[in-house]
Amino acid sequence: MLIFMQLSTQLYIDGKWVNGVSTMPVTNPADESVIANVQISSEEQCIQAVDAAHRAFKSWAKTAPRVRGEILRKAFEIMVAESDRLAEIISRENGKVLSDAKGEVLYAAEFFRWFSEEAVRINGEFRTSPSGDKRIIVTKQPIGVSLLITPWNFPAAMATRKIGPALAAGCTVILKPAGETPLTALAIIQILERAGVPAGVVNLILPSPTGPAIAKILKDPRVVNLSFTGSTEVGRVLLKEAADRVIRCSMELGGNAPFLVLSDANVDDAVAGALLAKMRNGGAACTAANRFYVAKEIANDFTEKLTKAMGGLKMAPGTSAGAQLGASVSVKERNKIAELVESSVAAGGDVKTGGKSPAGTGAFYPATVLSVKNNNPILQQEIFGPVAPIVITNSDEEAIELANATEFGLIAYVYSSNLKRAIRVAESLESGMVAINKGVISDPAAPFGGFKQSGLGREGGFAGIEEFLETKYIGVEI
Ligand code: NAP
Repeated sequence: MLIFMQLSTQLYIDGKWVNGVSTMPVTNPADESVIANVQISSEEQCIQAVDAAHRAFKSWAKTAPRVRGEILRKAFEIMVAESDRLAEIISRENGKVLSDAKGEVLYAAEFFRWFSEEAVRINGEFRTSPSGDKRIIVTKQPIGVSLLITPWNFPAAMATRKIGPALAAGCTVILKPAGETPLTALAIIQILERAGVPAGVVNLILPSPTGPAIAKILKDPRVVNLSFTGSTEVGRVLLKEAADRVIRCSMELGGNAPFLVLSDANVDDAVAGALLAKMRNGGAACTAANRFYVAKEIANDFTEKLTKAMGGLKMAPGTSAGAQLGASVSVKERNKIAELVESSVAAGGDVKTGGKSPAGTGAFYPATVLSVKNNNPILQQEIFGPVAPIVITNSDEEAIELANATEFGLIAYVYSSNLKRAIRVAESLESGMVAINKGVISDPAAPFGGFKQSGLGREGGFAGIEEFLETKYIGVEI
């Protein structure tokens, strides 16, 4: 296939494309065909990537910020120029529709642009101590070799959201993309190579099994930073492993986003926002609206309109014309969604549309709306699919209490025509991000991250680069 012709399927270590010890198939979930075979790295090769990143760190950390920024800027430009090709790679290995994939590529590229601009704005302080006995100099320096681990749902954006700030700060990295979607990461590494990233600054490994190789890397004293995006379950394992060497950790974990529609909300706007918040990426987003809490005054209207909109979406292979809902990343993931819906229905959930896996090939699951009571089990976990459970609420206070009754706290959505009321509700929600009257708020210029078990640290915005910087205080006798 043309889009794969210039794509390497090898590992990238110390500026060289190399074979591993075996290969692993990458599958298109829309038709379950094998679209590529990628190289698997040995544990020894994982350590070679650490050797390379450690060697390169000395000079990369000293490279002028403007030079680091210009390389990232060039990578941004190449990504935008080649966004159609990248979108097709994403759609074919991940299953999402082309329009979502294109949106992801442009969003992903923006992290390179944003951090190319941040590279030259790393600041410090120069102060007189309160007693006047010295000067306080505070500087920031790159933390060092960083391990970056990314999930399959946004294979481009989750990689650039880490690589961008790391390189801008002067760190060198080892990227471990998800096994389901390595091709997008490989394409991004090729772009960084073309943009002029020196050998060893970025390395890509693909160990299998993943756990033991990553544990070995985290034991290596040269690795000082871990940036992980993925499930809370794997995040907990990694935090424990990182604790042995007190490695700095940034964790972007699972979500269970509540979507609150208050009694004075404009129902049509709320439905349009709900469609975006729920259906972008086929619902496979940590920011996906997972639980809808709708005021009793407008609940019927909202449910009817959302059911009609979701029921009318065209489900088809992501790269086919007019597709609005693509395949899940794998049949295994699709079956998880189907099981969640089945257990919700067994507990009294009422299916308004969808609710059944189609027969035939491909990891498809239809857009589904459920009407449920507030104790339905589907509200307790991340669905990661196109399923919208709706709960009727009696007051703002009840909606807030239900929204906060979870160990997650990544993002919440509030719809209301009264901004004061919406902000009061937003301030009561236990989440790192709140969207008011908007279905998507992710922005490379804003801090992304969660409260509670949704994570530690922030990516993007002014905070994102801090995850890759150490603060140093120098006290000077004057
Ligand atoms: P996952 O199963 O946690 O995997 C994420 C990454 O961790 C993959 O690269 C995976 O590699 C690797 N991994 C798995 N087990 C590991 C271990 N024992 N040690 C080290 N690495 C290990 O998550 P996923 O299914 O790919 O992604 C879905 C999850 O990501 C959802 O929970 C979603 O909410 C979360 N997410 C969060 C954000 C955020 O910003 N908060 C953004 C996107 C996604 P293999 O593929 O080789 O197993």
